[in-house]
Amino acid sequence: MAAHFYPITRDEIHEFFVGLGFVPLKLKGVVELVYAKIVRVGGHRLSLRCFTAVNPNGECREKGTDAIRLQLFMRVEAGIVPVGRPQKCLQVESWRANLRKAIERATDLNNFRLCPACGNPQVVRQNRSNGDDFWGCSLFRFTGCKGKRGNAQQAAQERTPLSRARGPASIRGAAWHEPPR
Ligand SMILES: [Zn+2]
Repeated sequence: MAAHFYPITRDEIHEFFVGLGFVPLKLKGVVELVYAKIVRVGGHRLSLRCFTAVNPNGECREKGTDAIRLQLFMRVEAGIVPVGRPQKCLQVESWRANLRKAIERATDLNNFRLCPACGNPQVVRQNRSNGDDFWGCSLFRFTGCKGKRGNAQQAAQERTPLSRARGPASIRGAAWHEPPR
């Protein structure tokens, strides 16, 4: 059964995330609405951020560019780095149920691994030459740590188009987020 595109409104997405304890997050260089929540995964205090593909004026992005993306981030001394495996969810009528599942997957311990070399969380990243996904060290940019895990077959199973969507803009200049108490 083909799912039909359902453009989510600003009010709908706001109500959904606030209801789950998320707060709106302003990120430099990011136009779409972003919601974030502090979560604990594997004993780490992380920020789960959801890039909604709904613009601040209330317009949903067009079909094809409308995926809602979820990514965990960790605060380290050098900055804020993505960790774990990104998730995504399309804007279809069942988006609420799908998004709840995507949030569960994003915070599932099975989608969170530690670097065998330095012990910091890993992140699913994409090999630029062959397009394969792999688990790499989240601190690679800062420490050059090349701790990796996984092989080609495993990487294929873990393939996700999201790793292309992740950009430095969402990391750079992003204030660490604290939820209201
Ligand atoms: Zn490492």
